[in-house]
Amino acid sequence: MTRHVAIVGSGPAGFYAAEAIFKKAPEVRIDMIDRLPTPYGLVRSGVAPDHQGTKNVWRVFDRTARRDTFRYFGHVEVGRDVSVEELLARYDAVVLAVGVTVDRRLGIPGDDLPGVYGSRALSGWYNGHPDFSGLEPELRGPGIAVIGNGNVAVDVVRVLSREPDEMIKTDIPRYALDAIERSDYSELYMLGRRGPSQASFTTAELRELGEMTRTVALVDPAQLPEVVEADDPKHQKKMEKIVETLRSYSQNAPDAKPQRLHLRFFASPVRVIGPDRVRGLEVAVTELRDGRAVATGETYVLEVGTIVTAIGYGATPLEGVPLAASGTSFANVDGKIADRLWAVGWAKRGPSGVIATNRGDSAEVADRVLAELSDGARGGGDALGALLAERGARVVSYDDWLAIDEKERAAASEPTPRVKITSMDALLAACGR
Ligand SMILES: Cc1cc2nc3c(=O)[nH]c(=O)nc-3n(C[C@H](O)[C@H](O)[C@H](O)COP(=O)(O)OP(=O)(O)OC[C@H]3O[C@@H](n4cnc5c(N)ncnc54)[C@H](O)[C@@H]3O)c2cc1C
Repeated sequence: MTRHVAIVGSGPAGFYAAEAIFKKAPEVRIDMIDRLPTPYGLVRSGVAPDHQGTKNVWRVFDRTARRDTFRYFGHVEVGRDVSVEELLARYDAVVLAVGVTVDRRLGIPGDDLPGVYGSRALSGWYNGHPDFSGLEPELRGPGIAVIGNGNVAVDVVRVLSREPDEMIKTDIPRYALDAIERSDYSELYMLGRRGPSQASFTTAELRELGEMTRTVALVDPAQLPEVVEADDPKHQKKMEKIVETLRSYSQNAPDAKPQRLHLRFFASPVRVIGPDRVRGLEVAVTELRDGRAVATGETYVLEVGTIVTAIGYGATPLEGVPLAASGTSFANVDGKIADRLWAVGWAKRGPSGVIATNRGDSAEVADRVLAELSDGARGGGDALGALLAERGARVVSYDDWLAIDEKERAAASEPTPRVKITSMDALLAACGR
């Protein structure tokens, strides 16, 4: 009997799980369900547009999607068009690879004022995600503060700091490029609560900040440690390189370029200054005690008109699937949520790790899924297709996506790789050849 697996979510974790299942059991039928007509999750809508090399991982996923035993159910949202329970009734196993979607809030007074944006929303906007393409963020100066010290924060400051010419080889939507170009900020601040030795960005990402045409990266040398002591000794070498790079930024002249990026450490936001919209940000100076950032009592105000938070994400609840206490993933043990129900990727671990992290992790869960995969008595994709047809759902197939892909590429001229279609209506209209 044919065994059927449903994977919900077509990001890296979902595709790596499908690849791993096919490797060991090529006869299993896998249906991948995604709420968007476009596959690949954050590869399309999170990874910064000027990192096209990273986005190219879609080619690996495309190979999996072209298998005869694979079917794509795009524009189908679990929780809206079909429930987890209904999937379990039609599939031998259901794997949730839905990622995490909610921006964590700062939790300080004024964090809901107009002019405060989460990095999920802002990176979705500059990546043409249909949920965020209409965001119209007000990128107001004189400064913009980006809160966080991970790679997502670095991505955001980099995209906001680049010149249009530097983006020509990217697929950033025209509206985002125009909005960045039209805006009046000249100072960007990237704030970390702790010190340089605790930052979680990688050296390669940090180095790119030193190579921008329009923006000079600056660091106060007094914030750099004489001796680097990484939290985890395994990271000692990496942190030494990071501090060395920061030291080179501390020697840059502030007027070397028209825009300045200030990398500020020991800086914890305490209040967004309003009252009607962001007019400034009050920041507490911190010091490290036992590895934790503790306020010293000293504060200062940054003159910013826009704030972007890059401080983590939370999971979106799905009916009948309990969240972990952290709220950042589904409750699971090594990927298992319940009988025949599994989680992979960020839905399993919470928002940590790069694309490649999901490969091994999904393969481990795929092994467990296969070990427990039942006899194949359920209807699979045909049964799901019939249910969705009954409900009048507009399902987007992988061929439909290929048609969207073709139209996006055809609309671009060298060296721009594609002109993204960014609204749901236009994506649906572009389906089919
Ligand atoms: C802004 C940003 C930039 C990043 N940049 C990089 C980078 O440069 N390099 C790197 O290696 N890593 C990067 N990462 C990390 C990387 O994107 C993640 O490790 C990876 O995408 C996690 O994969 P996932 O499949 O778990 O989730 P996702 O990629 O989020 O995929 C989840 C999928 O599930 C779908 N979905 C959600 N809910 C439902 C539902 N209810 N029904 C149906 N479908 C649903 C979504 O549409 C999406 O397609 C970045 C992350 C972010 C947030």
